[in-house]
Amino acid sequence: MSLPDEAKCLDCDYALRGLLSNVCPECGRGFDPAVRSTYKSRHWYHMWHLWESPQPMRTIVVAFVLTVMLLSLASCPGQFSLGAALAITTCGFFFSTAMLDYLVRTLVYATRGRYITRHGQPYRGAGRWRWYAIPVLILIASSSVLTDWPVRLRFWMSRSALESAARMHVATGTSMTQPQWIGVYRIEEIVTSADGVFFVTGSWFGDQEGFMYRPDDPEPATPNRLAPKWYCDQH
Ligand SMILES: [Zn+2]
Repeated sequence: MSLPDEAKCLDCDYALRGLLSNVCPECGRGFDPAVRSTYKSRHWYHMWHLWESPQPMRTIVVAFVLTVMLLSLASCPGQFSLGAALAITTCGFFFSTAMLDYLVRTLVYATRGRYITRHGQPYRGAGRWRWYAIPVLILIASSSVLTDWPVRLRFWMSRSALESAARMHVATGTSMTQPQWIGVYRIEEIVTSADGVFFVTGSWFGDQEGFMYRPDDPEPATPNRLAPKWYCDQH
């Protein structure tokens, strides 16, 4: 199979017709006359070369930032509901676009896929991890919306700090209106009552949400129970 007359290098636009080797003399990028996607031609499907690689870093970086944002909201009672509409819309749109993009790339790779590197060598899988980035981030992001593992994980990280604060407030019977960091939560308010100690982490439609420490541990079977004596609660 020979090169079309107008074939040009993908990187530097050098005219490739009539060369003795399959390497661009200008920039050293390799090409394969049998694979249209390894050089530019007028043929419409030279466009495929854009899809024959894993997703670019910028897509992965945006997906990563969105996932971290979602996890930070999903792990904090009262915060997720507040930002939920915006967060889910943004992430849903971005991730479905990224997933579609990913499927096209996978399909192109599976049907046409082989890469030629700059020096004409077959692709050896540099940056191969990028193929896994988007599916893994989508899995993390969607599981954080569908299950409560982020709140359980973040609570677990903060539990000993929250527990010593709770015991102190039970002993003194005092409340606290000054926001403060306890563990990895920013606690807006601490309300001590006959039931126990309520740590406010956010609010939703006028209801305060957060963690309730109940020394008598009244409902050991409820799904809201995060740990012995600790409940996700709203007031
Ligand atoms: Zn070139």
